[in-house]
Amino acid sequence: MPSFFDDRIFREASHLNGFSGNPIERWSEARGDIEPEAMLAADNAALYLFADDRALLRVDGDGLKPRFRPDEASGLGLDRGSLILLGIGPDGPLLAGLVPASEARPDDVKAIDLRSLAIQDVLDPADLAALAQARSYLHWHAANRFCGRCGEPLLLKGGGVARACVRCDMRLFPRVDPVVIMLAIDGDRCLLGRQARFAPGMYSALAGFLEPGETIEEAVRREVKEEAGITIGRVAYHSSQAWPFPHSLMIGCHAEALSTDLAPDADELEDCRWFDREEVKLMLSGEHPEGLKAPFRMAIAHMLVRAFVERS
Ligand SMILES: [Zn+2]
Repeated sequence: MPSFFDDRIFREASHLNGFSGNPIERWSEARGDIEPEAMLAADNAALYLFADDRALLRVDGDGLKPRFRPDEASGLGLDRGSLILLGIGPDGPLLAGLVPASEARPDDVKAIDLRSLAIQDVLDPADLAALAQARSYLHWHAANRFCGRCGEPLLLKGGGVARACVRCDMRLFPRVDPVVIMLAIDGDRCLLGRQARFAPGMYSALAGFLEPGETIEEAVRREVKEEAGITIGRVAYHSSQAWPFPHSLMIGCHAEALSTDLAPDADELEDCRWFDREEVKLMLSGEHPEGLKAPFRMAIAHMLVRAFVERS
């Protein structure tokens, strides 16, 4: 029997982006009936811990271990009220929790931000993806403690899949903020910009949050017009990336430029210009004569640029 997918080119580029490949079975239905605290007693339960927005890691020989046993987590000052059940990992239940940022810790336990861990590529991709899930959940719960309808406290429900108001029972679910990130292309060149906060010499694809009532394609056209003054025609989806800063989904696209005269938004971009394919190749290989760089390997922007170069 012919398949719906037979006549389509099926390529899943998203798995090449950082934070992908999370092996946790989320148990989204059953998880709602489980108290995270009860799971601490399960065989092989382990926790990912955060102090504010930084992940805790134990230095183990040459490596870093991101998972802690429940007794280790208690010793580090685990805040049991912050506990979230992420789901079931290959070795048992996996939870996430906060520890006090100020507390003194053993010398072999470090707090490192997730962006640095991803850029340095020092963790197993499965742990990095699970840490992204953990950070997004913990951040969302910490920032949504009161009911937007009646102002009473919201309590964590269902292992972390929701919060519910103590008075009016309003339910709130962890949200994901969609962001479009796009590489505008004009023939043999592409459009890259840099924000003042970027690493020196780094240029990246333009990006922005979707607004209510927009399609992905409409958001791509609006953002490129607003940030660079360029009119966009066709938009082609490339891949997506979970982006735990704090809980976004990056939607990566290539965008067909219909105009070429740049009018950059100086509030958004420090610089913005067209780069031809040969120049972008040098940026990707780290050989650009002026030291200009492409985005880090783990970022979806890197894969958008690489796909443009390799498609030639
Ligand atoms: Zn309420």
